[in-house]
Amino acid sequence: MPILFGWGKSTVKDHGECIAATCPRCHNSVLLHHLFITVWFTLFFIPVIPYRRRRALVCPICNWSRDVPKQAVALTDEMQGITLQWRQGQLADADYEQRVEAYWSFQSGGVPTRADASGQPTDDVAGDVPTDPPTPPSV
Ligand SMILES: [Zn+2]
Repeated sequence: MPILFGWGKSTVKDHGECIAATCPRCHNSVLLHHLFITVWFTLFFIPVIPYRRRRALVCPICNWSRDVPKQAVALTDEMQGITLQWRQGQLADADYEQRVEAYWSFQSGGVPTRADASGQPTDDVAGDVPTDPPTPPSV
């Protein structure tokens, strides 16, 4: 009997509403859901070992999604708590809006607030410029 194993079976857990945004694809004002995606090593089609985990924010209407970068994971968890407070009426709209803006400004690139935002490449020159050592005066 052959041993059947495989890679790439993924499971998705929806952790619920995470952050308010205007979806860049369907242009609806939505609460993006926080998804935990796990890719598994499988044995006889049964997931045995998780070998890759990632997180994404997904539009509940059209399924548009974007990955949550590693450095934004903690902030995304925090944001989810803030969204919950706001949904329960413990946070004013204006305060919530500020937190949402702060979140998206932290997440550089692909900010789903304006559908027509032209992505301006940031020239990261600083730190890349070779500095010439001062030339000693010739004697
Ligand atoms: Zn959408």
